[in-house]
Amino acid sequence: MHFYIMTLFPEMVMQGLGTSIIGRAMEKGILSIDAVNIRDYAFNKHNSVDDYPYGGGAGMLMQAEPVYQAYRAVEAKIAAGKKADGDDSSVPIEDGTPAIRKKPRVVYLTPQGKTFTQGMAEEFAKEEELVFLCGHYEGIDERVLEEIVTDYVSIGDYILTGGELPAMIMVDAVSRLVPGVLHNDVSAEFESFQDNLLEYPQYSRPEVWHEKRVPEILLSGHHANIEKWRREQSVLRTARLRPDLLEKADLTEAERVLARG
Ligand code: SAM
Repeated sequence: MHFYIMTLFPEMVMQGLGTSIIGRAMEKGILSIDAVNIRDYAFNKHNSVDDYPYGGGAGMLMQAEPVYQAYRAVEAKIAAGKKADGDDSSVPIEDGTPAIRKKPRVVYLTPQGKTFTQGMAEEFAKEEELVFLCGHYEGIDERVLEEIVTDYVSIGDYILTGGELPAMIMVDAVSRLVPGVLHNDVSAEFESFQDNLLEYPQYSRPEVWHEKRVPEILLSGHHANIEKWRREQSVLRTARLRPDLLEKADLTEAERVLARG
């Protein structure tokens, strides 16, 4: 999976994503993350990429052209990567610059978008490459968004200073679903939000901590009973903490009764 992050703060995203599980996956070549600095495509001598909004109003806006040129550079990188992999879906255009036949998915991080969910992460994880566009200041000139963006995604109903943290959150959530990124791929399969249920409680050594014992059933070695107990705990926990999810969960009649308490 190749991620391209268009940003004014490339060092912020690279430092944030270069450690632990994602960092190791990058070292192994399972993932690549390329932070493209939009400022490199500024077209004035002051290197500025923002200007006042027409019609007045507070703050500055990122201009269309630097964002567009940064996007074109990303397209060229994707095409070059495909060519190097022997993939014939890249075609040279008149000036010899590689171009791609299928446009990549371009996600604009914006509080106005659909709220990011685990389901979206699963859908994005199927792509070969994903491009993220991080806004700053009061956002980005609408015209370039209309031209390049395929998905408008928010991480929640609050306003941040920039799209970098949302992009990092999404790269993290998508990456751990890419085969080979987690040590044990099964650990991404039975987690909260699978089937609209929260994960059951988990315990590790020691058996007794602060006079609290690990539930006896987990020490029994009886896998079928453990699975049954975990499923019940998931239902009970979801009913208590996220009753809104249960409405969409596929429950048996007995589980519905359990959830009602
Ligand atoms: N004026 C914009 C509005 O009212 O919709 C908000 C701009 S915000 C201060 C600057 C940038 O931060 C946005 O362009 C976006 O990229 C990012 N951003 C802020 N909050 C976000 C959120 N909840 N989810 C995703 N991106 C966000």
